[in-house]
Amino acid sequence: MALINENFLKLSGAYLFSEVAKRATAYKEAYPDKKVISLSIGDVTRPLAPAVTEAMHKAVEEMAHAETMRGYAPDAGYPFLIEAIIRNDFNARGIEADRDEIFISDGAKSDTGNIGDIFGCENKVAVTDPVYPVYVDTNAMAGRAGEYLAAAGAWEHITYIPCTMENGFVPALPAAEVDIVYLCYPNNPTGTTLTKEQLKVWVDYALANKVVILFDAAYEAFITEEDVPHSIYEIEGAKKIAIEFRSFSKTAGFTGVRCGYTVVPKELMAFDKKGNRYSLNQLWQRRQATKFNGTAYIIQRAAEAVYSKAGKKQIKGTIDYYMENAAVIKKNLEHTGMAVYGGVNAPYIWAKIPEGYTSWEFFDKLLNETQIVTTPGVGFGKSGEGYIRFTAFGSKENTLEAMERIKSLKL
Ligand code: PLP
Repeated sequence: MALINENFLKLSGAYLFSEVAKRATAYKEAYPDKKVISLSIGDVTRPLAPAVTEAMHKAVEEMAHAETMRGYAPDAGYPFLIEAIIRNDFNARGIEADRDEIFISDGAKSDTGNIGDIFGCENKVAVTDPVYPVYVDTNAMAGRAGEYLAAAGAWEHITYIPCTMENGFVPALPAAEVDIVYLCYPNNPTGTTLTKEQLKVWVDYALANKVVILFDAAYEAFITEEDVPHSIYEIEGAKKIAIEFRSFSKTAGFTGVRCGYTVVPKELMAFDKKGNRYSLNQLWQRRQATKFNGTAYIIQRAAEAVYSKAGKKQIKGTIDYYMENAAVIKKNLEHTGMAVYGGVNAPYIWAKIPEGYTSWEFFDKLLNETQIVTTPGVGFGKSGEGYIRFTAFGSKENTLEAMERIKSLKL
């Protein structure tokens, strides 16, 4: 008799965005003549950069000829892409990295989800709250989260670190003893960041307590302010304690193309129960070699083109486009009197909703009165209650129209 992994039964049925889509669809069916604008899910809308599609066409052509076709890619990625990453994302910021510390993948969702494979089930995990749900759900699947305590809106064995307007969205070090911490900066969903000094507090804590930080930098390309680190490795000592995840999804519009990478430094160690030290780089290398057969050649050539001179310029143009949307959303929401966060170094705007509404109630109000689809903060965790998230990934026209509508909202 085949037994299931019962941890799956503990997960909540509806993934956040399924519920958002359900409500939006029900509204559209009830009011087919109304134009609904979605500023909800963090998916891009601008086309790929021409430099990227050119590289893809060229790679497709290579695949059409016996002399130039490629079969299985190396598990960890082609050297041409790994080298471009090291030069542009790390060396350019004064960070050294070896080729075998970079692992190319099909995106940061897979990597942030799969990384749990190399950690023991007994590890105590901490997340900031609100949080990108993948970190929590994948730990629940692995049995690291214990039971879901519905009344508390939290998992039994997960340590939640609240990030709210009260603490300026700066996570305090956990009071409880933990082994693994997920940090995502610039943050989804709050759009907030940590300064180098604030991130250093975490690196120093991890160094002192043998904690591993899983640092998700999927939104690094949206940073505009000087003092905000693009990589955790800008902080001294971080290579001893941190794994970093990157994605081409938001940086270069690859949500439908699929490419990202993970950095696992060779000096990063974790322990067996007897206290012997092991290289996480070797474990991840072994995991990927066993369960992953490489990112497609065409896609890796596309990612390489992101670092070409033309690619960089075109991609910056698209990021600027989204960040102009972010500025428009931020300004208009501020005019309503709501407290507004994010939108300066990230494509997300996190607004404190007026007293008297839950975030789902305010989501419904926005949908009914302005036909704008947002994401209720509570969908990202208990500390997200009372907030709502807007994304800047819509078209400029839709964003401007949505903000015109917001002006008439009665709060
Ligand atoms: N990490 C964060 C914080 C995200 O918000 C997302 C996507 O929304 C991802 C990772 C997933 O990225 P990818 O498309 O590379 O899987």
